[in-house]
Amino acid sequence: MLKIITNPNPILREKSQVVSNVFNTEIQELVSQMIETMLAKDGVGLAAPQIGKNICLTVINHKDNVLVIFNPQITKKSWLKEWDEEGCLSVPGKFGEVKRHRKMKINFTDKEGQKQVLEAKGLLARVIQHEIDHLNGILFIDKAKNLQSHG
Ligand code: ZN
Repeated sequence: MLKIITNPNPILREKSQVVSNVFNTEIQELVSQMIETMLAKDGVGLAAPQIGKNICLTVINHKDNVLVIFNPQITKKSWLKEWDEEGCLSVPGKFGEVKRHRKMKINFTDKEGQKQVLEAKGLLARVIQHEIDHLNGILFIDKAKNLQSHG
């Protein structure tokens, strides 16, 4: 299992690099390990900077499916935003409310190297926005209100 980097750490604050070859053996191995780590930690998502790699890759656990997303780009976002509670494996024990677009659309490259379009709303849209923030060096605590510490 991969070690998860926690705040504060400069790696979490760097802008990630676009992945040009998703078929690279090392990258594919990393994807498997990230999925394993996310599931073991019961996380809804994990971005590569959280395991020490500043590359545009995130895995998301959505309704018993794992989405592998390379190089996501937001192409559309709803005017409507909503607040909801978030936490993060890299900010253990902290929770707070974050305002996110209710609906959004992204372009990305999947594990097979295929270009995909995904439209998401509600929780999935929220998770995707949280993970894309990681790729830009942004943590949810930068945007959160009513931050609370549990445990
Ligand atoms: Zn996070």
